[in-house]
Order: sequence, then C-alpha cells, then structure tokens
Amino acid sequence: MKKLRVDRAHGMAPHQPLLLLAVIELIEHGQVQENKIPLSPDLAETFLKYWTKVVINRKPDIALPFFHLKSRGFWHLHPNAGYEKVLDVASRIRSTSRLREVVAYASLDDDLFTLLTVPHDREVLRQTLIRTYLPDFKQIIEELLAETEQIGAYRADLLQRVEHTFSTQNSLEFVQTKEPIRTAGFRQAIMGIYNYTCAVCQLYILTMDGESVTEAAHIIPFSISGNDDVRNGISLCQLHHWAFDRGLISFSNTYKVIVSELMSERGPTEWLLSALSNKSILLPEQDKHYPAQDALAWHRENVLRQ
Ligand SMILES: [Zn+2]
Repeated sequence: MKKLRVDRAHGMAPHQPLLLLAVIELIEHGQVQENKIPLSPDLAETFLKYWTKVVINRKPDIALPFFHLKSRGFWHLHPNAGYEKVLDVASRIRSTSRLREVVAYASLDDDLFTLLTVPHDREVLRQTLIRTYLPDFKQIIEELLAETEQIGAYRADLLQRVEHTFSTQNSLEFVQTKEPIRTAGFRQAIMGIYNYTCAVCQLYILTMDGESVTEAAHIIPFSISGNDDVRNGISLCQLHHWAFDRGLISFSNTYKVIVSELMSERGPTEWLLSALSNKSILLPEQDKHYPAQDALAWHRENVLRQ
C-alpha cells in the first residue's frame, strides 16, 4: 500500500528515485567520475540494494527506470553506433540485455552532474529526492546509507593497514567491527584488489546484479585468526574456495598451486584440481597486497592434506 501511495501521489514509481539514489551513490564513491553512466553491474548492484529494502514482492527491473527516466528531461540516453534510430522510435525497451545492446550510456544535464560532484549539494539533492518521493522510507534509506558508509570506512582501513607489518595475531579491532559490516568491507577490499577474478583459475563471472562467482577467502580462517588484513585474503571462485578450505589445494612460497594427493577425482582433464599443480596464481597489481608468506605457510602446515 505504501508503494502505491508513492506512485499515485507523485506520478513516479519508486524505480526512478531508487535509480537516482544509486547514481548519486556511485558518484559519491568515485565509481562514476564523468557524466557517462553505463548500465553497469555496479549500478545494478547498488540499485538492487535500495530496491530490496523499499519494494517488497516485486521483481527488480533496472531496465525500466534506466529507459523511462529519459522522459523527465534531465536524463539522456546515448545510443551505441548503429542504434540511433532504434532509440528514437522505441517507446519501451523491456530487457536489460536489449537496453545494453542499444544504449551505450546515460548522462545527466551537465549542471545537475556538476552539482552531484559537490558533497554538500549532493546531500541536499539526495534528501530532497527522499523527502519528495520516498518519505515513508526515509529511516530505512538513512540506515542503509550509514551502513554503506561504515563498510566503505572498514574497507579503507583494511587497505591502509598494508602499510604496516603483517601479523597473524588476533586483532581486537577486526573482531569489534560488527557483522555484516566486517564481512562486506573485507569482501569489497579483496574484490577491488583481484577485480572479481579467481586467483587460481582466473575465472571472472559477474552478473548484472553485481553477483560474482568469486568469494573473498581468508587464508587463515577468521574464526582462528580474527584477521581481516587483506594479506590474509585471496579471491577464489566457489570451487577453488571450497578446495582451499578443505586442504585439497594450497599455495607455495613462490605463489604456485600445490595440489593434495590425498583425494580421488575424475572428469575432463582441464577441470581437475591436479591439472593446476605448480601453476602460478594470479597476484595483485601491487606487491603490498600479495598474500602474506606467514599466512600461506600456516595454511600449508595446518590445512593442506598431505
Ligand atoms: Zn577458480
């Protein structure tokens, strides 16, 4: 009922203000730096985060507001080469995949974009948007914004920490940070370093909702180390995370895959764990983010089945 009232009173379905909130957040976090807003997994993930808090029992559909916002006058769609006419005549584009095929990116009015790059003005616009179109959800959205800020701060703290010596010791600071902030911040830091790619097989799959096949794995489990230092982390796909946690694979001090012989496996050769033996893993761009030798040694000693 709340949602209907929003629709009727203002003639704007929640899709559109929620998409604008997502765009504002991406600008705030530097994920959108110029006035070109593609329909990216980042945008879709952020939109979905707001959607699931505000809209109940309706499937999220980012294609709808991304296309229809153009009727508001400040949101402009830029076609991919060869699709200019399609965009001119389309009264609607139903699917995300079709929209991505036709539209290269959206842009805002230049003045509006400039305003959104100024923290104070951005906050004023955000509050106006919430007050006007989502008044019933003000508190929920503010809680979400606060949580997002805490996750970002935890992530920034983890990235800062690599300037200091790695320690395998328990650190109270990590444990004191509450869930789900801690896990989300650690995940964001690791995914940023490895770009959502599995360090073992280099698989990268990211859905349009920002869901990834890769997970942020702890080398020494958090339950034992209490340590979210990014050097105690690595990005692994679900299969290789599973194998790593069960000691079927581990990594040498020269960052090569060690495969346990204490298992049997069967299947196409290229998919077997044993095919990975002695292969170099994907390492972060900067060596300060490399997995810590102490953590890798601990894993070989305590987890690898040998
Ligand atoms: Zn993998």
